Amino acid sequence: MQIRVLPLPEEKQKKKCSDESKLGFGKIFTDRMFLVEWKAGQGWVDARIEPYGPFSLDPACLVLHYGQEIFEGLKAYRWQDGSVALFRPEMNARRFNHSAERLCMPEVPEELFLQGVAELVRLEADWIPTAPGTSLYIRPTMIAVEAVLGVKPSDHYYFYVILSPVGAYYAGGFNPVKIMVEDQYVRAVPGGTGEAKTGGNYASSLKAGLEAKKKGFDQVLWLDGKERRFIEEVGAMNMFFTYGNRVVTAPLEGSILSGVTRNSVITLAAELGFTVDECKTDIDTIMADIRSGKITEAFGSGTAAVITPVGALCYKNETATIGSGGVGALTQRLYDTLTGIQTGVIADKFGWVKKI
Ligand SMILES: *Cc1c(COP(=O)(O)O)cnc(C)c1O
Repeated sequence: MQIRVLPLPEEKQKKKCSDESKLGFGKIFTDRMFLVEWKAGQGWVDARIEPYGPFSLDPACLVLHYGQEIFEGLKAYRWQDGSVALFRPEMNARRFNHSAERLCMPEVPEELFLQGVAELVRLEADWIPTAPGTSLYIRPTMIAVEAVLGVKPSDHYYFYVILSPVGAYYAGGFNPVKIMVEDQYVRAVPGGTGEAKTGGNYASSLKAGLEAKKKGFDQVLWLDGKERRFIEEVGAMNMFFTYGNRVVTAPLEGSILSGVTRNSVITLAAELGFTVDECKTDIDTIMADIRSGKITEAFGSGTAAVITPVGALCYKNETATIGSGGVGALTQRLYDTLTGIQTGVIADKFGWVKKI
């Protein structure tokens, strides 16, 4: 599709942050955004890259009332040779359409998704930070903008992409987090929207996260929504446990987000000689196996942090420390390998990296 590039007036050009250690996450946005509209009877129309700025939305529009919204998250990395790379962006395009299908939203052709992302990142390449651990976070989003209060799929959508230079996630060190196992609230239920990256899932998870923080934990570990027994995810990351030479994670059965990082971890762990089991594991077994030392490591996986070491789990007010409470060998190896491939320091033998 032809993408129009609108002029960027001088007064809309922002000053870049000169101190990359102060970037944080998702607080600064670049000068431009990509936007394309879908209208019933017309399909996708008027793709353009325009100055970044607020939308004018009708207060009645569907996204504001019934949450018809989906999003994605991926990153662009600046390599030492000056080139720019994306990590497995076609997986984000596919997952976006999987989310769209669940929310009764129109499919975004994969080429359009990838073209919008690539052309925007190319135009905004000056915004990609260069310090170790930094990147340009990419947030593709679709919202329902028809102004009507009836509960129904919208007849008008915006698909847009915004960019945010982000700082090193582990500026304070690659330190293990303390997790509270959530036995009251649930994130997703069978038949629900847990497998879709849709705003409502995150709005409904805020309360549990807040209560865990109040008790001194970094995040919650979600149990399944039916029996509150089986391990699902940790915050907005997929969850892994290591038993010596075996790695365990929850199977994709509808309530779990199919992470690009999760998929990459599974491939890398198998490559390193680990057996990977995608199987249901109940929390009582996990707690017993941590205490007996059978579980040697635990970590979360997701685009923002890549890998997050988990040092301890607390379930029903009892805390169990995983291994020595430090960063496990596989956890460290996966983090180094994944970030190495993403930044071009380690050869990519899987074809994951896409230069733009
Ligand atoms: C985005 C997300 C993940 C991680 O997916 P990645 O593709 O690895 O970033 C895991 N769980 C939830 C709930 C998420 O929203």
